[in-house]
Amino acid sequence: MNKRCKQCMRLLPDNEEYFRPYTPRGKGLRKSTVGRNTVCRECEKTNNVASRIWKQENKSPKELDFLEKMAEYYKMLVDKGGSPIGAYAKHVLEGAEAMTNSSATSMDSILANISEQLSSRDAAMMEYDRLLVLELTEEPDVYQDLLDKVREQSLGADGRVTDKYREKFDAVATRFDEYEDNYNWE
Ligand SMILES: [Zn+2]
Repeated sequence: MNKRCKQCMRLLPDNEEYFRPYTPRGKGLRKSTVGRNTVCRECEKTNNVASRIWKQENKSPKELDFLEKMAEYYKMLVDKGGSPIGAYAKHVLEGAEAMTNSSATSMDSILANISEQLSSRDAAMMEYDRLLVLELTEEPDVYQDLLDKVREQSLGADGRVTDKYREKFDAVATRFDEYEDNYNWE
């Protein structure tokens, strides 16, 4: 059976020649070996060397060169869909992230998303209240459309109106249905 190294993305035989057995740190539950590493031995070796040189106090020009190449290499792996591990990879990739500001961006977009949902939730409740007292003068379809629109904002994961809105929805639906039943079509 083959297994894909999660760092270099190569498909390699899933045996101890390519993947080192993984042993839990500390006491572990059974002190047993649980499967094999997700990163191949070659990547592991590369990471260890890179991290060791990176942590070194004094670096030769050749070592600095090497680290620069390694940084490029890690970024290339990420582009390929890999997830490089190790101290130096982490340093390089987090640095890159900070530079493109993507963590701030993702927080902004999450915030925008949840704010929109929060405000649309409140807006739905306000809309139901408005529809409950709205003076009905137009053709019934107009009101069914309004109800459809607010209903879309009140759906749960199962595609049904959530409990929170159920009562209001039923009240408005009943009101509009009655209006439609008694509507005097010309
Ligand atoms: Zn690998």
